[in-house]
Amino acid sequence: MQTWPSHPVPDVAGTPRPLRLYDTSSAQVRPTAPGPTATMYVCGITPYDATHLGHAATYLAFDLVHRLWLDNGHDVHYVQNVTDIDDPLLERAIRDQDDWVVLGMRETALFREDMAALRVLPPREFTGAVESIPDIVAAVAKLLASGTAYRVDDQEFPDIYFDHAATGRFGYESGYDRETMDRFFAERGGDPDRPGKRHPLDALLWRAARPDEPSWPSELGPGRPGWHIECSVIALNSLGMGIDLQAGGSDLIFPHHEYSAAHAEALTSEHPFARHYGHSAMIGLDGEKMSKSKGNLVFVSRLRADGVDPMAIRLGLLSGHYRQDRSWTTDILDTAQTRLTAWRAAVARPSAPPAADLITRLRDHLANDLDTPQAIAAMDAWSRQDGTDPQAPTAVAQAVDALLGIKL
Ligand code: ZN
Repeated sequence: MQTWPSHPVPDVAGTPRPLRLYDTSSAQVRPTAPGPTATMYVCGITPYDATHLGHAATYLAFDLVHRLWLDNGHDVHYVQNVTDIDDPLLERAIRDQDDWVVLGMRETALFREDMAALRVLPPREFTGAVESIPDIVAAVAKLLASGTAYRVDDQEFPDIYFDHAATGRFGYESGYDRETMDRFFAERGGDPDRPGKRHPLDALLWRAARPDEPSWPSELGPGRPGWHIECSVIALNSLGMGIDLQAGGSDLIFPHHEYSAAHAEALTSEHPFARHYGHSAMIGLDGEKMSKSKGNLVFVSRLRADGVDPMAIRLGLLSGHYRQDRSWTTDILDTAQTRLTAWRAAVARPSAPPAADLITRLRDHLANDLDTPQAIAAMDAWSRQDGTDPQAPTAVAQAVDALLGIKL
């Protein structure tokens, strides 16, 4: 698929700081240690609706990882998928009497616009599930042949499932107990009660064709792919095993990332799928969880249409820590707009306090598990101080652009 436009990232003077990032699987903040090329896979959208602030917060958090790795001199190979065939897309298309293909294309186009406006650096590969079907079919066939996948005994709908225990490591990514797994599996698209499965936690790899559902012919029989295997295959084909970061929202910890890892590990007999599993917290609205069922989603495109500066949206979302569940309020947006105006005035001055100390602070805070609240506080303090260095305003504007992605 076509990705979205990029923009130049300025070089920043001084010494970069290697990134330390929280890893869900080991439950600790650990150094990231990429080679010359850092590899990152962030799970993409299912394009049945516009980008809301929760999505935006996730892509912004891992955009900071991208920027810090660039600052450290790595070439960053970033891959993102688009789940352009799955149940939620079909359900929405039926509800709205829309064509699922047109709906997916329209919302994906809007997502690209939102990401470009928020200055999220684009992935090198932006890959759809539909275009990956031949690769997914080959992977599922391999899992069937190795005995880690099986067909349910159902003449009409011979779906294919993954034996969740196949790798012997199931659960290492989330660290959840069985009760939590059962709950999230049922809540988040799993089908524990499907007759014919060997175990309630076995996950769908290939859904045999149903009447009135799109399907693709294949050596597995006509059907369409499950969600987790889609990401395993796209990541493996683009990046290989042992990627530096697999990331997404915290609602993907289980089941999605647990199974994506298990599928990839079963396919390759290697471990681990990712060296870091990163997850961003949820964004609520005025103290309530933001969700499609509550109808209280705040869309990036709506804010943009209302004339809100995308840099204020970015700054507002970054004013909280990415691992802290938090609420979006009009106060947060107002504060971000005021701050953006103050920062722009500060870098438009003929002279200011020297940039070096501030840039060191920005790097230190961001390299410490993306501590954006502290980085923003450091920039606030610099903006309020007077100084005589004529080079500083430009140097600071470039550093804030490169490291925080905020164009002043
Ligand atoms: Zn994914």
